[in-house]
Amino acid sequence: MVGGGVVVTRFPPEPNGYLHIGHAKAVCVDFGMAQLFGGECHLRLDDTNPTKESDEYAENIKRDINWLGFQWSGRPGESGEPGFYNASDMFDKMYAIAEELISRGQAYCCNLTQEEWKAYRGVPERPGTPSPSRDTDPDRNMQIFHEMRAGKYADGEWCLRAKIDMASPNIHFRDPVLYRIRHVPHYHLKDRWCVYPMYDFAHPIEDALEGVTHSMCTLEFEVHRPLYDWVIARMAEQGELVTRNGALVRPQQREFARLNLTYTVMSKRLLLQMVNEKVVAGWDDPRMPTVCGMRRRGYTPGAIREFCERIGVSKVESESDPALLEWCVREELNRTATRRMAVLDPVKVVIDNWDAAESRLVELPNNPTDAAAGVRQVPFGREIWIDRADFMEVPEKKFFRMAPGQEVRLRGACIFKCTRCVKDASGAVAEIHGTWDEASWGGNAADGRKVKGTIHWVDCATGVKAEVRLYDRLFTEKDPLKDGSDGFLKYLNPDSLRTVTAYVEPALAEAKALEHFQFERTGYFVADEHDSKPGAPVFNRTCTLKDSYKPA
Ligand code: ATP
Ligand code: MG
Repeated sequence: MVGGGVVVTRFPPEPNGYLHIGHAKAVCVDFGMAQLFGGECHLRLDDTNPTKESDEYAENIKRDINWLGFQWSGRPGESGEPGFYNASDMFDKMYAIAEELISRGQAYCCNLTQEEWKAYRGVPERPGTPSPSRDTDPDRNMQIFHEMRAGKYADGEWCLRAKIDMASPNIHFRDPVLYRIRHVPHYHLKDRWCVYPMYDFAHPIEDALEGVTHSMCTLEFEVHRPLYDWVIARMAEQGELVTRNGALVRPQQREFARLNLTYTVMSKRLLLQMVNEKVVAGWDDPRMPTVCGMRRRGYTPGAIREFCERIGVSKVESESDPALLEWCVREELNRTATRRMAVLDPVKVVIDNWDAAESRLVELPNNPTDAAAGVRQVPFGREIWIDRADFMEVPEKKFFRMAPGQEVRLRGACIFKCTRCVKDASGAVAEIHGTWDEASWGGNAADGRKVKGTIHWVDCATGVKAEVRLYDRLFTEKDPLKDGSDGFLKYLNPDSLRTVTAYVEPALAEAKALEHFQFERTGYFVADEHDSKPGAPVFNRTCTLKDSYKPA
C-alpha cells in the first residue's frame, strides 16, 4: 500500500507573488486529489530562494487557498499549524543530507564558473566533460562545503554538485547543482544561511520529510523526474524516509499540463512588472488573472473550481479560452445573484400624467430562479432614469423599446407611451416625455393588448448614484507574448477599464463588499471589495449577461 494507506499531496507555492489562475488549477488538482482519496494535502511555502519572498505574499496565498474552498491538513509543521510547512524549516536537514552525500562520495564541490559549467555539461547527443573537481576526496569536499556555509566565498565561487552521470542523455542528470552560495538574507531566517538548496534537491527532500505520497507538478518537470527519484533513493539509503502506519513513504512525482489562458499573461514576473509600472491598480486589480483579482472582479470560488474541473487534468499542453471561465461564472451567478435595476447611461423620462407628489412601490422578485430569495419593493414616481440605448427617436425596424408613439413596459410598473423628447444644444436627447396607461399598473394592459418591449428603470427621487467600473479583457492579442516578454505591454487593451456614473435602485446603496448582483438586462456586478461604501456604492462589472461562447 502506498505510504501507509493514506494519500498525501502538497501545494508548494513560492511566496514571491500572488496566486494566479494557473496556481488555482494546481490547488484544485492537489487538494482535489487528496479529497477524492480521503487523504491530506499540505500547504508548503517553498521559500528556498530568498531574493523575492515576503510575508505579505505568504499571508495572501493562505487567504486565496481558503477562499477557493480548500484547507490544508496533516501533521503539524514547525509552526504547530496542521499541514502547514515552510521549506526553510527543513534547511538543517537538507544540509545534513548533503553532508552525508559528500561523505559517501555522491556529491562534490565545484568551482567552475557558470559559463564553464554549462560548456562542460555539453549537449544531450554527446557525453559532457567532467569537472576538474569531480574526483576530489570527500574530506576536502566537506571542508569546502563547510567553508561555503561559513561565508568564506562569494556568490558563485563554489557550488555543491551531485556526482551522477556526465554521459547521461538527460542533461539534468549530468552532475546537477545541489547547493549554491547566495549572500542574501532570508525573509524569515535572516542571515542564518548563505548557501541555499536548489529546487531539484530541496523539493524531493521536502516531499519525503513531510510524508507526501504524490507530488504533482507541471509537465516541464517531467525531465527532472529521474533526479527526483535519485534524491529519494539517496534518502532511502540514508534512512531518511519517514514511515506511516509502519510503511515507508516513498514519494512519487507525477506531472500534468499547466494551464495556459489566451489573452492573458501568467508569469509572476510579468504580473509584478504590470503592478510596478502601474499598468494595473495592483495585484488585485479586477483585470488581473490573480485569484485576488478574480475575487474583486466578482468571480466565485465555485466557478473557478468548475472551470478547472472542465479543462481537466491532462498530459497535453493546450490553451484555454477565458470565455470558458466567464461561462462558468455566468452559470453560477445566474442561479445565485440577486437581481437589481441599475441604469448605467442614464437619460431622464418624465411621465406627464403622473402626479408629482405620488410615489408607488413596485414588487419585484430578488431572483426569479430562486423563490426563496423573496421579493423587494422598489419606489416608482413621475421621473425615472432609463438607459440611453433603450430609446430611439426614430426607431429602427424591430426596435420594440422606447420610441415616440410606441408603447413599452416599464418593468413591473406600467405601460408607458412616449410622446416627445427634448434635446440639448449638442443635439443629444436630454429628456423624454410621455404618459402612462392608468389601467396598466403592474405592467399589463387591462384590455389584454400586447406590448413587446420591457425595459428597466430607476426612480429619480430615490435612486442612488453609483460608480460603476466596466472591465474588459486586459490584452487585445490572443498571445500577448508572441514577440517575447519585452513587448507584451503594447498589446494592452486601451479600453479594458471604463468608469461611469450610474443610477441604481435604493436597495443597492447598502451593498456589502463582494456582494454579487445581476443588474437586469445589463450584466453581473459585484460591490467593490475596497472602495464601495454605504451610501456611495462602487460596482465592478464581472461579466456581461450573454456571450456566444458554448462549451464543448
Ligand atoms: P511563475 O512561473 O508564474 O512564477 P511558478 O510555477 O514558479 O509560477 P510556484 O509558486 O512555484 O510558481 O507554483 C506553485 C505551484 O503551482 C507549482 O506546483 C506549479 O507547478 C503550479 N503552477 C504554477 N503555474 C501553473 C499553471 N499555469 N498551471 C498549473 N499549475 C501551475
Ligand atoms: Mg516555481
